[in-house]
Amino acid sequence: MKPVACILSCLFAVCGLAADPPKLPVLIIDGQNNHDWKSTTPVLKDALEKSGRFTVEVTTTPSDRATPEQWAAWRPEFGKYKAVVSNYNGVLWPMQVKIAFDDYVAGGGGFVCIHAANNAFPDWPQYNAMIGLGGWGGRDEKSGPYVYLRDGALVRDTAPGPGGNHGAQFEFTVDLFGEGATHPITRGLPASWKHCRDELYDMLRGPAENMKVLATATSQVTQRPEPMIMVLDYGKGRVFHTPMGHADYSMKCVGFYTVVQRGTEWAATGDVTLPVPAEFPTAEAVLPVP
Ligand code: ZN
Repeated sequence: MKPVACILSCLFAVCGLAADPPKLPVLIIDGQNNHDWKSTTPVLKDALEKSGRFTVEVTTTPSDRATPEQWAAWRPEFGKYKAVVSNYNGVLWPMQVKIAFDDYVAGGGGFVCIHAANNAFPDWPQYNAMIGLGGWGGRDEKSGPYVYLRDGALVRDTAPGPGGNHGAQFEFTVDLFGEGATHPITRGLPASWKHCRDELYDMLRGPAENMKVLATATSQVTQRPEPMIMVLDYGKGRVFHTPMGHADYSMKCVGFYTVVQRGTEWAATGDVTLPVPAEFPTAEAVLPVP
């Protein structure tokens, strides 16, 4: 190597080292779900760790048959993390944890809601304000409007009826919408890509305030483009919500990995530095994670 090239490469090495931002601490919550959280949490953890941007810890709640003493011992320290990812759909957390979580997100923490985490807590107003839209658990018109696209525009439909539905699992196309073309999470992604076999949630409903829909997918049940990537402001905090991710095979998709990595970075920091992978699913073909 010539001396100049050597000096340059040394400089790059040093600068590269110095420019590496510290990893962002993230907490995944699991422990109860009508889904197989024991197989999906490791995939979420892998997605985040593979990006090189996060350190990931998991906290597992007590079971749905736990004693009050066991619940009293579960006190996650949300403040230690830049973002909290929920893979939880189960009994209501203790009041002390609910208050701590609300304070954490409202105070500027990041929150990431994955798939059936939007089934959780139908009667916790602050949680529903964070996630914007949810399903099941008795949700109905009192929970807020249905939100979907009609003729290319976002509709808030106050028609009465239950919240939450899906058809058979299939590979479906995710389409960027609105600010999806320019938002840090989704900028640089193709306008459409094929997502691995998953449930496509439709008829979600909720307060949907301070919410932007960045991408949709057209339900085979409602024939409507339904929200698939959403971002919300909650106090000083940021929420990234995707109803995708029914099972481990739904998550092991380059599109899902990318969106969860970038969505979590945005929730944690308000921006995205992670690049879009060179190989990405196309509108015609899924691209499973190797
Ligand atoms: Zn599901």
